[in-house]
Amino acid sequence: MRDIQMVDLKAQYQKIKPEVDKRLEGVISSAAFINGPEVQRFQSELETYLDVKHVIPCANGTDALQVALMALGLERGDEVITTTFTFIATAEVIALLGLTPVLVDVDPDSFLIDTDAVEKAIGPKTKAIIPVHLFGQCANMEGIMRIAQANDLYVVEDAAQSIGASFHFSDGTTKASGTIGDFGCTSFFPSKNLGCYGDGGAIFCNNDELADKARVIVNHGMKVRYYHDLIGVNSRLDSIQAAVLSIKLEHLDHYNNERRRAAFHYDKELGDLGVFKVPKRLKNSCHVFHQYTLQCEGVDREALREHLNVNGVPAMIYYPVPLHQQKAFRDARYQDGAFPVSEELASKVLSLPMHSELDDEQLNYITQTIKEFLKKA
Ligand SMILES: *Cc1c(COP(=O)(O)O)cnc(C)c1O
Repeated sequence: MRDIQMVDLKAQYQKIKPEVDKRLEGVISSAAFINGPEVQRFQSELETYLDVKHVIPCANGTDALQVALMALGLERGDEVITTTFTFIATAEVIALLGLTPVLVDVDPDSFLIDTDAVEKAIGPKTKAIIPVHLFGQCANMEGIMRIAQANDLYVVEDAAQSIGASFHFSDGTTKASGTIGDFGCTSFFPSKNLGCYGDGGAIFCNNDELADKARVIVNHGMKVRYYHDLIGVNSRLDSIQAAVLSIKLEHLDHYNNERRRAAFHYDKELGDLGVFKVPKRLKNSCHVFHQYTLQCEGVDREALREHLNVNGVPAMIYYPVPLHQQKAFRDARYQDGAFPVSEELASKVLSLPMHSELDDEQLNYITQTIKEFLKKA
């Protein structure tokens, strides 16, 4: 059996190696490393895949979020509502721009931002909401968009973990995650569902004016070379990464199906043991399982994790500390206990290996190893 990894990029590369090597050689021979034809090509392929008007490639997912917020023209002290149960980047960019992050709790079954809590957190300074499609499932975008419209707020979707997922609205329409709000932001970090071989990210937008502004901001605030209209940043996707992404985009649906297949194996083998809560599927969102995250209810998480590791099965805790309890975000507004659901999740979650290359032998080994532990415990 191949070694089990949280994410198996080596095995994935072996399957597409000839294609990748050929395209990368092309980029290197052409020496068009920055803003070359590969970047244009990937951009338009992704626009077609997502059915979105504009994709603005950039250097990473954190930059994508930062640039989206910059393009909205928010002012110091404006408030942005987001979830406390997410990766730090989501709230980091809010604080970095001098805006005020207003954190809210999540739903205990789906890990996703609690829309009732969002509504309650709205005040006179609130300007935007950042829902996070955590672990690969869309937040309740119908609720979020309704709240945003009623209160005249912008929506920036953090779709770093959800590329390829979609949301089904009650009027029968379906939209790709990241194409629903004013902006959507994703990351092509190697371990993401669509990952490159370094850093990368992109912003999605259906509004011509906002897209134009974001495109100017990622390029030093410049539309005509050496004429700078805005204070911008330097955030580019390079041609090598774009070439890798262009190849992998063709396989994305297959990759996501393989992730779903692994998730169903875990559900089937672990769902009825009485000690785990398996991740809930929402009927309005298709899930692309960036992570498969169990909640350990009647089992010692640390002991289980240790047993798994000793037996060659990696398992990770995403995330061990909610944002309001992070040192960087310590804030008089949020004491311990402020967000009980997220605090409890942080003590119970355990993510199992999840990627496109898990075969039946590995999946069986993982769930058998868990069952062995339960027998001994
Ligand atoms: C990965 C991730 C980001 C940041 O992406 P980078 O490319 O690493 O900057 C932002 N938000 C979430 C939820 C993520 O998982």
